[in-house]
Amino acid sequence: KLNIKSLHEIEELLNSFNIMSLKLNESYKRLETLSIIDKLTGLYNRRYFDEALEKEVLRARRFKHDLSLMFIDIDKFKHFNDTYGHTEGDVVLQRLGRLIKEQARNEIDIACRYGGEEFTVILPETTSNDAFTIAWRLIRDFRGIKFHIATEEEPVQETISIGVAELEYEGDSKTLLVQADKAMYEAKKLGGNRVCDYGV
Ligand code: GH3
Ligand code: MG
Ligand code: MG
Repeated sequence: KLNIKSLHEIEELLNSFNIMSLKLNESYKRLETLSIIDKLTGLYNRRYFDEALEKEVLRARRFKHDLSLMFIDIDKFKHFNDTYGHTEGDVVLQRLGRLIKEQARNEIDIACRYGGEEFTVILPETTSNDAFTIAWRLIRDFRGIKFHIATEEEPVQETISIGVAELEYEGDSKTLLVQADKAMYEAKKLGGNRVCDYGV
């Protein structure tokens, strides 16, 4: 029970409440960020991706806009981890995450770590043709990166495979994801280090 004796005391009480509310707000915001961001790469996490894809598909359909999806997977990454260790593997994941973020359009594209060594990029206002070009640039730039590993004399290079798919008329998010994944698998089957377009 609070006994207020003076106006001054009320003022002080109000102040404490305001500070408390500000602090709560900060913690809340921090929690929010933590739950949508992948810790290792700083990209959006799977949870955010699922929601964002759903939203972007609805938006693209409503306004009859283009929408493409890119599914990226590192080639033979298990071998890399087994050979050079998990810590070096993490460096590769972080570097790829950075590259994807650098090439993504600010405030437009949504770059995510889908899980493990798999990444997705939602590309609003983008045809699969344009997504194809963007994917090739990513593949080229990534294989140009040299990873310096303490135990190795020569720097090591890695490659990625990418599948792209474009939202079809009245298509849904699940189908789009399956198509991009299938296209990525096609790229792997052809030897990796390349991009495939769903339906091409
Ligand atoms: P493919 O060319 O067919 O894609 O073969 P892959 O070896 O890349 O694919 P696979 O699915 O067999 O292995 C994925 C590997 O990714 C397994 C695991 O060692 C590695 N990996 C997944 N998540 C992480 C992570 O957070 N850190 C590290 N260092 N490695 C990870
Ligand atoms: Mg994989
Ligand atoms: Mg892989």
